[in-house]
Amino acid sequence: MTAPPTITLAHGDITEQHADVLVNAANSSLLGGGGVDGAIHRRGGPEILAACRALRASHYGKGLQTGQAVATTAGRLHAEYVVHTVGPVWSHTEDRSALLASCYRESLRVAADLGARTVAFPAISTGIYGWPLDDGARIAVRTVREAAHPPVTEVRFVLFDEEAYARFAEALRT
Ligand code: ADP
Repeated sequence: MTAPPTITLAHGDITEQHADVLVNAANSSLLGGGGVDGAIHRRGGPEILAACRALRASHYGKGLQTGQAVATTAGRLHAEYVVHTVGPVWSHTEDRSALLASCYRESLRVAADLGARTVAFPAISTGIYGWPLDDGARIAVRTVREAAHPPVTEVRFVLFDEEAYARFAEALRT
């Protein structure tokens, strides 16, 4: 059986990370937004948006579905590819955790297909989409632990603030 990737934590802005793949917490339009999405497009430059527009035209006219993932160039970022995934919006009335797990799993699958060894994730859905950080961290860590996606050997969670870092560190300890 193949071992799951090693999980590491980093503090800060995902657009400053060096990795084979940087994962974007995108929205279904693939045309950019706030938070991580805005930062990736700002720092990565117009090549990423051009690639997203091309994907929309060829495959995702109705948008990328929640829980799915797709790759583009990383433009000027320190990575080979950006993998865009659409997290679920937090709901008080509906359990959408399978969709959040799917974001991590599908992103890893796409990254592995591209030959990536190192993959950096933000805390998907825990910003504008309102997912509670402790639960979002638990789902992220559990899903990556369950995944064996050679050649991916390192998964790095890049946490923007102290609170997010603490919740992921806690999830890793359990
Ligand atoms: P979503 O819409 O999926 O909730 P956001 O981008 O709003 O995505 O936020 C996801 C998480 O990423 C939040 O915890 C937020 O604090 C964090 N975040 C925002 N900007 C960055 C960044 N540049 N690098 C890393 N994490 C970020």
